[in-house]
Amino acid sequence: MRVAVTGTPGTGKTTATKRVETDLDIVHLNEVIRTEGLHDGTDDDRGSLLADFDAIDEYLAGKTDLLVESHLAHHFDAERVVVLRCDPETLEERLRERGESSASARENAESEALDVILSEAVTAHGENAVYEIETTHQTPEETARAIEAVIAGDREPSAGTVDYTDYL
Ligand code: ADP
Repeated sequence: MRVAVTGTPGTGKTTATKRVETDLDIVHLNEVIRTEGLHDGTDDDRGSLLADFDAIDEYLAGKTDLLVESHLAHHFDAERVVVLRCDPETLEERLRERGESSASARENAESEALDVILSEAVTAHGENAVYEIETTHQTPEETARAIEAVIAGDREPSAGTVDYTDYL
């Protein structure tokens, strides 16, 4: 089985998935994009690498029993897609603390309030494959346990359960 763990940067994907206990191989995709050179250029405005989706598809091809973690994970094949959510104000604070510029922190918080990644995940995989997890008041361990419940089939699909439009 392949499980994607996605969400706006700062929702806690890396922190939570490092604590997930599973037989699936955990792929931190952003790290792999860097180390395997799966990119084609840079986004000069954001100072980030532009992911090469075809090269990533090739890298993932034939690999089974994976948990793929990245804000891009929902763009690739998966049977279940976990979307981590975080209140935009908290998210903005976390990103600033992580050293991101105010503009970038604000852009990501707005994207979170607008459900951008959730919508992309539902469009790509359908509502019945999407599991939204609200993490704002959870510890990374609690989020890890919730992800394990999705892997085990102990959680029902859920999309559209959070509303951050007050932030906008
Ligand atoms: P992502 O991988 O989604 O970009 P990270 O796992 O890097 O997010 O987390 C972003 C920041 O938020 C980090 O500084 C991390 O320590 C903090 N963080 C992550 N999860 C939590 C949590 N559940 N509670 C509080 N802070 C968290």
